[in-house]
Amino acid sequence: MASLPSLRVLVAAPRGFCAGVERAIQIVELALEKHGPPVYVRHEIVHNRFVVDSLKAKGAIFVKELDEVPDGAQVIFSAHGVPKSIPATAQARGLDWLDATCPLVSKVHRQAERMVEQGRHILFIGHAGHPEVIGTFGQVPDGVMTLIETVEDAEAVQPPEGPLGFLTQTTLSVDDTADIVATLQRRFPAVLGPKGEDICYATSNRQTAVKAIAPQCQLVLVIGAENSSNSQRLKEVAAREGARAHLIQRAAGIDWSWFDGVETVGLTAGASAPEVLVQEVLDAMRARFDVRATDVTTATEEVVFKLPRALVAA
Ligand code: SF4
Repeated sequence: MASLPSLRVLVAAPRGFCAGVERAIQIVELALEKHGPPVYVRHEIVHNRFVVDSLKAKGAIFVKELDEVPDGAQVIFSAHGVPKSIPATAQARGLDWLDATCPLVSKVHRQAERMVEQGRHILFIGHAGHPEVIGTFGQVPDGVMTLIETVEDAEAVQPPEGPLGFLTQTTLSVDDTADIVATLQRRFPAVLGPKGEDICYATSNRQTAVKAIAPQCQLVLVIGAENSSNSQRLKEVAAREGARAHLIQRAAGIDWSWFDGVETVGLTAGASAPEVLVQEVLDAMRARFDVRATDVTTATEEVVFKLPRALVAA
């Protein structure tokens, strides 16, 4: 048999599941163990088809809205967070609900509430229509928060008179957000920002790891879903560093013509993509190339979030 062409693969670390995604999946699995199927989940628990299908196979039923959940059933809210009206409606209907909102998203929710208590109008940096943005807007009364998606928005926004604050979605591009924040701070020097970063540790660590590998790669593959914000940002970061970048759900999504003329390929995975898919992609490469794979580690992560008391209590 002819020898396989050689391929160097740089595998970014950290990559894949973050602590918020691990926790959300565990909440659904523990609820299924404790209550037995079916357990209803409002929206994709995390933005990954493989994860959603695995939980469906164990008895989870995914719904868009609460009115699809029958009376008396158990329902779980996704990691991205929900408007306050959702748990309130669940409570009013007497549903047995659990909240899998990532604690780092909940932190932004509390910051938003505090800014509103201080009488601030909030400039919220995020992507229109993303469930996290819908959830955060749903923490505060209508009209007290304005969405800023771009530097152009930051240049054009005309907020009401009075004190201002800004907050951000947790899964944004670190670099783009810095430009937007700088624009807001130039235009509104007294604008109050969050004490720490709102962009979460997992998002920024994964972007840093991609920045480390992408300049050495002709091609970077990001395992993640189209609707996963942090995965889309990884693709953008890789492209900015000069690599051709593609988002794939799993090995089957690879177009092998992408590899023509490629000597070094980078590989990473968004925060909602499991490691098993990274290994699947590496195996698919090994079937076609003589692969030399190296992990390039730019940070180690030890973050673990507590589970809801209702699930861990004896
Ligand atoms: S990406 Fe960040 S904010 Fe989102 S679930 Fe993971 S840790 Fe939480």
